[in-house]
Amino acid sequence: MDPVATVEPSVEPSWAARLARGLRATLARSLNVALPRLCPSCRDLVTDNGLCPACWSKVAFIAPPYCPRLGIPFAYDPGPGILSMQAIADPPAFHRARAAVRYDDIAKTLVHALKYQDRTDLAPTMGRWMARAGGELLNDADLLSPVPLHWRRAWSRRYNQSGALAKIIAQHGHAKVAGDVLRRVRPTQQQIGLSKSERAANVQGAFAVAPDKTADVHGRHIVLIDDVLTSGATADACARALLRAKAKQVDVLVFARVVDTAQSPI
Ligand SMILES: [Zn+2]
Repeated sequence: MDPVATVEPSVEPSWAARLARGLRATLARSLNVALPRLCPSCRDLVTDNGLCPACWSKVAFIAPPYCPRLGIPFAYDPGPGILSMQAIADPPAFHRARAAVRYDDIAKTLVHALKYQDRTDLAPTMGRWMARAGGELLNDADLLSPVPLHWRRAWSRRYNQSGALAKIIAQHGHAKVAGDVLRRVRPTQQQIGLSKSERAANVQGAFAVAPDKTADVHGRHIVLIDDVLTSGATADACARALLRAKAKQVDVLVFARVVDTAQSPI
C-alpha cells in the first residue's frame, strides 16, 4: 500500500470498531447465517457480494490504450510500443505495471472496506478484475508475491489484503502465491504527506527476500500484488529486493492506481 495524502485516512479504525466488526463476523459464522450485506460505497442493501448496480456502473476500469510500461491510461492511442513520458523520464525497477481501476472515490471505498472493515467477501470480485487487467503479465508468470505488511501491522489488522487478492488471482492462472518470499525487514511510516523522494527514502531497504527463499526467486518471473499504486515507491522497493535475489523479471499488478490527471502522460 502506498497511500496518497489527499485520499487516505490518517488513522485506522479504533480498536472498539475493530472489535465490533470482529464480533459481528463471529456471530454470523456461529449462527451460520448471512447478515445483510451493504454496498461498501453507498451503504444500500445488496443481495449479493460487492457493489450495488448504481455504484458498479461508476467504476472507472482501466482499458487500453495505456503506457505499456506503467499502465497509465493514454487520452488517445499513440501507437504500439509508445511509452509515457513518466516511464521514459523515471523508469521503475519493475518491468510493467497494470491496474484494474483508477483510484477514485469508488475504488477507495472498496480498498478500505477490504482492508479495514473485514469485507473479505469483496476479494473475489476485486481479484477477478485484477486478473483480467493483468492477463498479459500473468500469462508467463511463475509466482505472485503480495506486498507484505510488517508483522506488527499484520497482527493488528489480522490479515494482509494483498495476500487475499493474490489468492484469488492465482485461481485465474497458473502462477502460485508465494506469500513468504518477500519480507518487510523494518517498519516504515505511513506514506501520507510525503513527497515522491521522501516516499522512496521511506521504503528504501524496507523489503528483503527471506534468506531461505532465494532459490524460489532465482530465475523466476514474479508479479507483485498490491491494492493501490501511488508513486510506485513501495512496488519499486519490492522489485529491487526481488531483482537482487536474481528474479528474472518483476511486474506489478494492483487493484487501483492513482492517475494524476494534472500530469497527462502524453
Ligand atoms: Zn452502491
